Amino acid sequence: MTTPVYQNFINGHFLKNQSGETFAVKNPATDEVIYHVEVADAFVQNAAIESAKQGFATWSAMAPIERSRILLKAVELLRARNDELAKIEVLDTGKPWQEAECVDVQTGADVIEYFAGLAPAQVGQQQMVGEDFYYTRKEPLGICAGIGAWNYPLQIACWKSGPALAAGNALIFKPSEETPLGAIKLAEIFIEAGVPAGVFNVVQGAAEVGQWLTQHADIEKVSFTGEVGTGKKVVASAAGSLKDVTMELGGKSPLLVFDDADISQAVSAAMLGNFYTQGEICTNCTRIYVHKNVYQQFIDELKTRTEQNIIAGDPMNSEVNLGALISKNHHDLVMGYIDKGISEGATLLTGGKALKPDSAPNGYFVAPTVFTDCTDDMTIVKEEIFGPVMSVLVFDDEDDAIRRANDTHLGLAAGVFTKDIKRAHRVIHQLQAGICWINSYGNSPAEMPVGGYKQSGIGRENGIETLEHYTQTKSIYVGMTDIESPF
Ligand code: NDP
Repeated sequence: MTTPVYQNFINGHFLKNQSGETFAVKNPATDEVIYHVEVADAFVQNAAIESAKQGFATWSAMAPIERSRILLKAVELLRARNDELAKIEVLDTGKPWQEAECVDVQTGADVIEYFAGLAPAQVGQQQMVGEDFYYTRKEPLGICAGIGAWNYPLQIACWKSGPALAAGNALIFKPSEETPLGAIKLAEIFIEAGVPAGVFNVVQGAAEVGQWLTQHADIEKVSFTGEVGTGKKVVASAAGSLKDVTMELGGKSPLLVFDDADISQAVSAAMLGNFYTQGEICTNCTRIYVHKNVYQQFIDELKTRTEQNIIAGDPMNSEVNLGALISKNHHDLVMGYIDKGISEGATLLTGGKALKPDSAPNGYFVAPTVFTDCTDDMTIVKEEIFGPVMSVLVFDDEDDAIRRANDTHLGLAAGVFTKDIKRAHRVIHQLQAGICWINSYGNSPAEMPVGGYKQSGIGRENGIETLEHYTQTKSIYVGMTDIESPF
């Protein structure tokens, strides 16, 4: 059976490349090639820039409320095609249908809807300066680039295009080579909704195509989601033309569970924050610090629920709540971390092995894994694993737990479980992280800004302030009096 070949999406339609180069995309749950994609060669890259220039000219000249109406139409289409799009995400990423069906498309649509609503609400300032005055305009940046990771492909494309387009920019988006289809579907939806050709182009390929975007002099900004190491390369490369950057990078986030917490709730949060999307979520609370008085209770319930409630298998089966990891390489990387956890002396409470479920025997599954008796110096406690691997640590002093939680160069997210309202806020205010939860974990509504402290990121996505990252302020001084000139 021949598999489909997708081309790059440029200037409102599919564009064939000249090199003929393609890459294969596999379903992580079956290890089978499901389609091929053409790489964006020089011909496609030039076309993307030229069409983005045209698209930007048309789009930025439209009234914000007109842009808003068009984007809201795209939101309607996204929601109407929820199941078709969710299925693409399941086949590309290996994540369970039960997640994609209610999260991936919905949270993407929510963000575009949110920024569509804000588009006409953007205002400048005006201030008198004696008899003269100045005013400011919020102007779009021009052509922006978005580079996405593979864990939430469509959602990431929506989270970047929503604010970029609402503010009047054009966006050239490069999805991960592992998950290229969702962004193409979004591009088709934008065209159908009435977004002018060239405003949202999709270029396909691996690191080289990403590098090209970060270097191109006509691109004003790069919004990147991916690993810390890649983020550093992107910032360095973008510096060559002094582009604005937004960086959504990795984490090794702590969750602090105090002895007055509702332990079942804390276990729910820990499981969500480690096993949802088979652990491939940047904000995951992979370091769980539990107060010594409730440590045993916590790990007993965690072990029971992990062993009884997790169903791995064909991700399209609606019962399945643990999918396959994105690739064989990534699977092996995660298994390598598990081996390190064992060899460095952590206790394997549960899991720790690859899985071969009957319904998906060739998929890249890893059992939900919990290590206890972890210490701060272990590799599994220090490095982002990006798989279903949780490290549990014990503490007995609040200040010490905060110090240990902050002892990392990452600072994406953090959480605290306690019924003591004063302690909850006191602790969370001291945690060095950009996204924090109290008695909750993982929710990320469109209204709430998200982004990292320290090496977990630069700038924010979502929330009103993100529009600042996609606009520039023009100040205009208006002389109402004669110029006083010494010449
Ligand atoms: P990578 O950093 O490997 O890749 C991210 C994107 O960058 C991909 O599209 C990749 O292309 C591209 N890329 C690779 N090298 C370069 C380069 N030199 N210049 C420009 N672009 C390049 O991340 P993953 O895809 O592996 O995603 C997992 C990581 O993403 C984790 O660290 C996770 O924490 C983080 N993440 C952060 C989020 C946040 O909001 N903070 C959200 C989701 C994930 P290709 O893959 O095709 O080679």
